[in-house]
Amino acid sequence: MMRIGHGYDVHRFAAGRRLVLGGVEIPYEEGLLGHSDADALCHALADALFGAVCLPDIGRHFPDNDPQYEGANSLELLRRCYDEVLGTGFALVNADCTIVAERPKLAPYIEAMRASVAAALGTDILSVNIKATTEEGLGIGGAGIAVHAVVLLEKIK
Ligand code: MG
Repeated sequence: MMRIGHGYDVHRFAAGRRLVLGGVEIPYEEGLLGHSDADALCHALADALFGAVCLPDIGRHFPDNDPQYEGANSLELLRRCYDEVLGTGFALVNADCTIVAERPKLAPYIEAMRASVAAALGTDILSVNIKATTEEGLGIGGAGIAVHAVVLLEKIK
């Protein structure tokens, strides 16, 4: 049996914050604002994984008003989310993600993000795809970064 899941997340740019996507820190003049490290890629992926097995979203697992998640490493949270999903008997076949950002240029960091996420999920880099696009200035523009994630899971037990 196969299951599909979709996740979506947005964080706004803020000065004085780190920019972290897929657990990879990207040197840039601004970062993303959030209670955790605001890693929108990890958050979207976690919601896609939860979505595939009808579990509550990441915000209900790790509330953004809970002090223990302040500054949390979202790659580690993603690992914990996937452990919970594995507990339902489903495992990842592949994930495909699209990062929507007018800035900065993300192409130099895509392969590192794929390796980082694949390692967190205990899977092969060929099972994790990450793409980046702009919205030609028509969408959230330069105000932040959005991520779409789709996953396919298969029943393994
Ligand atoms: Mg988020």
